[in-house]
Amino acid sequence: MTYRELLKEGERRLKEAAFSEAELDAFLLFEEAFHMSRPVFFLRQNEVADEREAKCYEEMIIKRLSHIPVSQILHKAWFMKYEFFVNEHVLSPRQDTEILVEEALHHLQDYDRVLDMCTGSGCIAISLYAMGKEMKKDFFVTACDLSEDALMVAKKNNEDIAGGKVRLFQGDLFSALPIKEDKKPMIFDMIVSNPPYIKSSLIADLMPEVKDHEPLMALDGCEDGLLFYRRIASEGKLHLRAGGFLIVEIGYDQGISVPEIFKAEGYEDIRVIRDFSGLDRVVCAKRG
Ligand code: GLN
Repeated sequence: MTYRELLKEGERRLKEAAFSEAELDAFLLFEEAFHMSRPVFFLRQNEVADEREAKCYEEMIIKRLSHIPVSQILHKAWFMKYEFFVNEHVLSPRQDTEILVEEALHHLQDYDRVLDMCTGSGCIAISLYAMGKEMKKDFFVTACDLSEDALMVAKKNNEDIAGGKVRLFQGDLFSALPIKEDKKPMIFDMIVSNPPYIKSSLIADLMPEVKDHEPLMALDGCEDGLLFYRRIASEGKLHLRAGGFLIVEIGYDQGISVPEIFKAEGYEDIRVIRDFSGLDRVVCAKRG
C-alpha cells in the first residue's frame, strides 16, 4: 500500500469508531511510524510504504482504537515549548496547565524558591525551571509526588529538559520534603500545584482515554474534589513565606469553592484566571 492509502485507511478506521479527532490522531501516529513530516508526506504519498513501518502504524491504530491516548502511544506530549516523556503512570500534560506556568513565570522575577506539589510528569516544575533559566540566574525548583512511578518519569524529563536541576522528592504532599539539619521546615516563595481535583463519584463519567488509561491517583480529589486544595492551603502555610504565592490549577466549576478555602486559611489577593475557553482554570493567592 502507498503512504497515502495507509493514512486514509487509518483515518477511516478511527472515524468509523467515532473518534472526534480521527484525522489528527491518524496523522500523529503516521508521522511517528514512518518518521515523516507533513511536507515529506506530500512529496512521497504515492510511494509504496515499507512493510515493517506499515505494521508499526497498524499496531498504533489498533492501540488508539482501544482508547489509549495518543500521548501514551507516542510516549510524548508537548507542553510549553518542550517535549515531555509520558507513560501510563502520569497524567499527560494538558494545554490548560500552561496558564498556571505562565502565571508562575510572571512572579518568578522576584521569587527564588519554587515548589511544585503533585508534579506527575514534572511538566510544571521542569518547564518553569527551563524557561525561568532564560530570564534569571539563581533560583531553585523543588517538586514532589506520592507516586514512585510518576517520579521516575519526572526524573527522565528533568534530565532531558532541565539538566537534572529540579529537586525531586517522593512522599505524601509536604511530608515528602527533606528535614533540614536545623529541623526547620523548608520555606518557599511560591508553591504551584495541579493536584487531583475530580470528585470521586464523577470519575466513572470521564472519557475512556482518561478513566481507563491515566492514573486514578492523579485524578481523584476525593468526595468533593477539594481535598488537596484544603491540605495544600493549610499544610502549605508552614512552607510558604509571608507574601509568597500559592498558584493552583482548578476544575472549571471550582472557581468559587477553591478561593473560599484559601480565604478561610488566611490567604489574600485571591484571583481566578480563566483558560482559553473562558472557564475558570487557575487560582492565585498571596500568603498574608
Ligand atoms: N502536575 C502534573 C500536571 O500538571 C500532574 C498533575 C496530577 O497528577 N494531578 O500535569
